[in-house]
This record gives sequence, structure tokens and C-alpha cells, in this order.
Amino acid sequence: MKEQKVNVQIESAKDNRTEDRMEEYVREMIRMLGEDPTREGLLRTPRRVVQSLRFLTSGYRQDTDKMLNGALFDVAYDEMVIVRDIEIFSLCEHHLLPFLGRCHVAYIPDKKVIGLSKIPRLVETFARRLQVQERLTNQIADTIMEKIHPLGVGVIIEAKHLCMIMRGVEKQNSVAVTSAMLGVFRDEQQTREEFLSLARGAR
Ligand SMILES: [Zn+2]
Repeated sequence: MKEQKVNVQIESAKDNRTEDRMEEYVREMIRMLGEDPTREGLLRTPRRVVQSLRFLTSGYRQDTDKMLNGALFDVAYDEMVIVRDIEIFSLCEHHLLPFLGRCHVAYIPDKKVIGLSKIPRLVETFARRLQVQERLTNQIADTIMEKIHPLGVGVIIEAKHLCMIMRGVEKQNSVAVTSAMLGVFRDEQQTREEFLSLARGAR
């Protein structure tokens, strides 16, 4: 018990040192951008930047196994399960700028289902990391496949990338759409179309 407490203290001291160094890097970056990090408006900015980056990458510290254990159930249901319009906020790994949009997740169970509320949590766990939209889409689909071995999984993500919009690479309204289709979603056109029309119903 005592030893555990000491370990926790060492861990949190290590964390504090890391946060301090991160803040110093942000302060240095502000300076190199030609700004004065000591002026009032910027004084607390390094701390805020570090805190918000920690939050936006908190998915690295979440364990999907732990999250889903206890939320997998045996059922006889064998129709399509769809959770649509899950909001996505992620960071593109190329520019560390946000991309945001919606995610639709569907699967056809084979004896096992995932508690419905866990699907948005699963999406969030992978979204709160440095990502590319294609990998995010695949990670969600692969994890569901791995966890409950359904007959198939479909994931669609529609997102706007601020790195494209703000830098004028693309028109304001362009949306990147990615999809991952596994099992019957890949092999059976009818299943895929049912999913696409249910996802489209979102609009
Ligand atoms: Zn980018």
C-alpha cells in the first residue's frame, strides 16, 4: 500500500516535469513566431495549450479493452445495428489542426453485441489522438470486428479539415468522406446499400 503511494507520487512528479517542459516549448515557439510570450494576453497561453493538447490526445491514455470489457453481451438479435451522427473532433497528424464531422457505425451481430453507449466512446478514444481520417475509420471498424466477430462492420466518416479550409487548399465546404466495409458490408451490395441509406437518412 505504502509502496503504491510512493509510485503514484513519482509518476505525478514525472508528469509535472513533462508538462513544464511542454509549456517551455510552447513559450519558445511563440517567441520564434515573433511574439512576446511575456505580454499579458499570452502569459498563460503555454499552460492552456498544453492542457488542451493533453485533452485532445487523451485517447492515448484510454484502453479500449478495459472500456469494452463488461459491455459485450450475448443476444439473438441478427439485424443491422446502426449508430449514426456521432460527432467527431480529431487532430490531423500532419498539421496538428482539427478535423471535425460525423461518424456512422453499423454492424450485423453474430450472437454478440456491444452496449450502444460504448460505440461513441470507442469512436472518441480513437479520435482523441493524432490521426489521419483513413486510419481513424479503419481502427473503429477493426476494433469492433476483433471484439465481437460480427458478420460485418461498416464505418463512414464525413469530416472537414481545418488544415485544408484555413490554408485555402480547398473550398470552404469540401468534406472528406472515408469508409471501411468489412465482412458482409464488403461482400453484399444489399447490406452496404441498406447501411448507406440509413446513414444518409441522417440528413
Ligand atoms: Zn492536415
